[in-house]
Amino acid sequence: MVKKVLKFGGTSVGTSERIQHVAKIIKKERSLGNKIIVVVSAMAGKTNELIKLSKEISEEFNKREMDVLLSSGEQVTSALLSGALTEIDVKAKSWLNWQIPILTEGEHTNSRIININVEKINEYLDENGVAILPGFQGISQKGEITTIGRGGSDASAVAIAKIFNTDSCEIYTDVDGVFSTDPNKIPVAKKIEKISYDEMLELSSLGAKVMQSSAIQTALMYDIPLEVKSTFTERKGTKIFSQENIDYSKSVTGVAYSKDDAKITIIGVEDKPGVAANIFEPLSKAQINVDMVIQNISSDQKTTDITFTVKRDDVSRTKQILKDDSEISYKEIIHNNKVAKVSIVGAGMVSTPGVTYRMFRALSDEKINILAISTSEIKLSVIIEEDDTLKAIKKLHTIFDLD
Ligand code: ADP
Ligand code: ASP
Ligand code: MG
Repeated sequence: MVKKVLKFGGTSVGTSERIQHVAKIIKKERSLGNKIIVVVSAMAGKTNELIKLSKEISEEFNKREMDVLLSSGEQVTSALLSGALTEIDVKAKSWLNWQIPILTEGEHTNSRIININVEKINEYLDENGVAILPGFQGISQKGEITTIGRGGSDASAVAIAKIFNTDSCEIYTDVDGVFSTDPNKIPVAKKIEKISYDEMLELSSLGAKVMQSSAIQTALMYDIPLEVKSTFTERKGTKIFSQENIDYSKSVTGVAYSKDDAKITIIGVEDKPGVAANIFEPLSKAQINVDMVIQNISSDQKTTDITFTVKRDDVSRTKQILKDDSEISYKEIIHNNKVAKVSIVGAGMVSTPGVTYRMFRALSDEKINILAISTSEIKLSVIIEEDDTLKAIKKLHTIFDLD
């Protein structure tokens, strides 16, 4: 007998028919004698709908109340799935975060799971019941309802797998696994059979939302192998695990993109020591994450332009902080929201020379202008005009043999 976490995402539980279908998958797993802990997301679109409602009340909706509001999505699916299982004679029970409890720390809407009481759930598993836990939420030490960030049910599943010491953690979703790029955007994308935690972490952080990045971080930290597979087909999924077990025949494993970045340029900054520190220190204090930085060579030896990227949501705050800071002098600040970040990721890049120039050459062949660049050992990202995104992904996918 093995103990498993099965996590079902939003599309997988998007309608009552789909919830009934999920119940059948669970029944099959139960009939094999497995102990099952199920983690559910809210029905597809529900969390967005709740956020929209909150915005109708206030653009700056209170974060404590936001967590109370958003956690309702997962509450609905937990109960519906439990009902669907009971209906087909599978013993099942749902719990809310505070009944377990799932303890979190950190601020509202962005908390982290730090512990889970295993007692009641383990008892129920011993009585041959299927335990249904809500993803994405918890309760703070002060007894406040919390949520753990968008896409957070993945992180809930991994935390539960760790704390309950389960034999496996299976992430059921609406695609067959992790692909070389988003299969819904690029149909020639190929399913990846196995991928390392490190590569998956880069892909998720760079925009591949099939797995949430903090879930991968936890899986990496505690070596919890994951399997991503489809709720709707029986095809083999993708295994995510540690690097030693993977053979890298290709330099590039996947291409990711995101459209949540923006480029800011400060024109006419004084060219003297300490200026960059004066600019980036207040941003860092305000928890604004600066990704790529480019400083132009000054032509007059007196002033220069500094370009950097931040998350799109942070643009107005960034500009305001720079404007309010009396230590920074400049001519003008401009920004461009219509940019996208396209990245190639691959552990094989370390041992393959020439990947960087091949990427740049490919983009130039497509007449795509590179606005900023950043690299790490296993990834290379560029900022380009948003309109060029699809063209860039297609080209990179082809030249790195991923089609
Ligand atoms: P769930 O609701 O099951 O958590 P998500 O919508 O969060 O599912 O993630 C699945 C989606 O991720 C897919 O429908 C796909 O469009 C998108 N996606 C982006 N990049 C990739 C990739 N490299 N491989 C697979 N899916 C990807
Ligand atoms: N329902 C939450 C969201 O949409 C969590 C999740 O689906 O993983 O972000
Ligand atoms: Mg998701």
